[in-house]
This record gives sequence, C-alpha cells and structure tokens, in this order.
Amino acid sequence: MDSCLLCKKVITYDISLSFLLSFKRLPKKYVCAECMNQFVRIDETRICKSCGRQMDNLGMCIDCQKWCRLGDEFENRSIFQYNEAMKNFMHRYKFVGDYQLRMIFQKEIRKKIRKDFVVVPIPISAETKINRGFNQVIGLLGDIKYVEALKVKERRKVRQSALNRQQRIHNKQVFTINYESVPKIVNQKVLLLDDIYTTGTTIRHAAEVLKKNGAMQVLGLTLCR
Ligand SMILES: [Zn+2]
Ligand SMILES: [Zn+2]
Repeated sequence: MDSCLLCKKVITYDISLSFLLSFKRLPKKYVCAECMNQFVRIDETRICKSCGRQMDNLGMCIDCQKWCRLGDEFENRSIFQYNEAMKNFMHRYKFVGDYQLRMIFQKEIRKKIRKDFVVVPIPISAETKINRGFNQVIGLLGDIKYVEALKVKERRKVRQSALNRQQRIHNKQVFTINYESVPKIVNQKVLLLDDIYTTGTTIRHAAEVLKKNGAMQVLGLTLCR
C-alpha cells in the first residue's frame, strides 16, 4: 500500500471494473487526492503570454511590459500557482531536503516537455549542492534527458565599488556556460527548467548565456509561478 508523501495517509485508488478488466498497471500516485487538490493549476487561457503568470485575461503583465521595454523578451510557462500548498512543498523539498518529494510532479513536468527541445536545468551553486545534497530542478526531471549547459559563477570577492559601471552590470550575471556542452545547444531549441519563477531575473540571465553561446531559441518552464 502506498502512503501519501505529504500527509502520510494511505492512498486509495478508485478502480473501475473496466480498468480492472483491461489488465493495465495502475498509474502510481505519490500524494493523496486531498493533498493534490491543494495545488492549483495555472489556467493557460488566462495568463501573461510572456511570463506565464495567472491573470484575469490573456495578455501581458506590467512586469513583462517593463522587461519588453528593456528589450528583453522571454517566454515562460508555469504549471502551478505558488500558493500556500506549493510554498510548503518547496520548503520540505528544498530546505528540509526531502528528496523523495521530487517524484510528486515529475509526471506533470514530463507532459510539458517537447521532444524537439534540449532540456537545460537551472544549476545551483557548489555551496548549495553541498548543503542540500541535490539539485532540486534535476530531481523534477526524473528520467528525462537533460544537458547541464550552465554553471553558477564562482563569486570572486571583488568590491562592487571597485568596478566600473560596465563591469558592475556584467557582474550581475550569475551564470556561465559549461563549455563542453556548447555543441549540444548550438542551433538548438532549448527549454530552461526551474522550480519557481519569482522575478524572472534568474531564468532571463540563464537564457542570455545560452543565446550568447549559440542556442537558437530559449523558452522557460517552471513548476510554479
Ligand atoms: Zn496527502
Ligand atoms: Zn508577465
């Protein structure tokens, strides 16, 4: 018997007679219906067509209008809203470090990944890797193939005030390319995966590095927004 990874209650399956007679394997569930219902799916008919956030209508949100004015166009889609349940999930998964929880949304992620795209997960820093023990984004991918094309820049201890404006702007870029993986992204359509879209800065920085190194197109996908 399976128990819910979130509330530990035993998961019940509603099996119809026709399913039983089909001899198909039961799709495995990791959370009970009650817990699953706490997560709210984003309705894609009413989103910001740039960042993918839930809106009242299909359009472009104020934040993305600002990005656009800066000449930074980006397209991201997210699967769930960042509500209380998702916040709790993220806390347990990332900060408590319950690695099992990665399985809850793997199926949802798989459904959103198009075969003609190269999947690139947002990397975590070496320090986070040591503390957390895993990259939470890679965990969400399950058995989906991916390319670790990005690395988090090692922070050199340079006083910001010692840099000129150009260097300061450049210094904000947190990612750098993993040179060995360049041939795998050149002229490819890339799907950047992250767990959460907050301000959009992280994923845009990542997209910039990939484009600069030859990616043809870069889209974003995050578990929540
Ligand atoms: Zn549950
Ligand atoms: Zn937006």
